[in-house]
Amino acid sequence: MLITACIKQVPDTTQVKVDPVTGTLIREGVPFIMNPFDTHALEESLRLKDKYGLRVSVISMGPPSTETTLRKALALGADEAALLSDRAFGGADTLATSKVLAEAIKKLAQREEVALVICGQQTIDGDTAQVGPGIATRLGYSQLTLVDHIEHIDLEARRLRVRRKLEGRHEVVEAPLPALVTVVREINTPRYPTVPMRLMAEDAPVLLWDNQEMGLASETIGLSGSPTQVRRIFSPERAKGEILGDGANDPEEAAKLLLDKLIETDIIAL
Ligand SMILES: Cc1cc2nc3c(=O)[nH]c(=O)nc-3n(C[C@H](O)[C@H](O)[C@H](O)COP(=O)(O)OP(=O)(O)OC[C@H]3O[C@@H](n4cnc5c(N)ncnc54)[C@H](O)[C@@H]3O)c2cc1C
Repeated sequence: MLITACIKQVPDTTQVKVDPVTGTLIREGVPFIMNPFDTHALEESLRLKDKYGLRVSVISMGPPSTETTLRKALALGADEAALLSDRAFGGADTLATSKVLAEAIKKLAQREEVALVICGQQTIDGDTAQVGPGIATRLGYSQLTLVDHIEHIDLEARRLRVRRKLEGRHEVVEAPLPALVTVVREINTPRYPTVPMRLMAEDAPVLLWDNQEMGLASETIGLSGSPTQVRRIFSPERAKGEILGDGANDPEEAAKLLLDKLIETDIIAL
């Protein structure tokens, strides 16, 4: 039985800048990383592999360079990796992205039963958190979002129990398998690859599924299958900070300076 982890390669946003003229991201020279939330999705898959004897299959839709990220997943212990890459998949919004990923999972399921799909809560570039629910809906799987603990999986009864992290409370939910779970960062601490595993992953095969292999109708994928378009990306202007005093003020003096400033700027009135 399989667990499929969905992993996206994203630009390291700590190093991305926005072009002030065009409002688009400057991606040149920016390193790509595994979406941080997906490192937790992969880690959870690997823990469940050890606990329940499942196999872990990792899939990612992206340009050919995404292979590097998939090799990292193999180095961490994934059993197989498939790169879904074709020019026809490019420019996809979340609807078209979830289409390709769901079809890839169907393809995996033809070979081996899929018990669970694990996604990150969201990505750090697109940030929509729509792809996981999109895949679950397309596949008709149970959908469990914002999970911070997988309590139990009963493979015979085909059920799982998870804890969801909601605002100010937790919720424990049971659902039938197959299921799709999206995970929050708190669920685990990702492991590091060992040197022998890294070396093994360098030569391990990565499956390449283009659209000849996937056979999806062109109007359902990529730009043509995407009803939404991002018109502009920009960083909101932030008010500049002001340093009060000279740094040598005692706490009482500093508090007085702050109070005077708040009164002067009409933030508080006495
Ligand atoms: C510069 C830029 C321009 C964009 N332009 C457009 C545009 O013109 N029109 C438009 O509609 N959208 C656009 N997008 C959005 C882009 O298509 C989305 O990034 C993509 O659809 C996935 O959505 P998301 O990143 O919000 O994923 P989320 O829904 O936040 O991801 C949730 C989880 O789903 C899984 N997942 C998501 N994507 C993948 C993947 N490719 N492979 C494997 N697993 C995945 C991961 O487990 C991830 O943690 C743009 C994004 C960027 C950064």
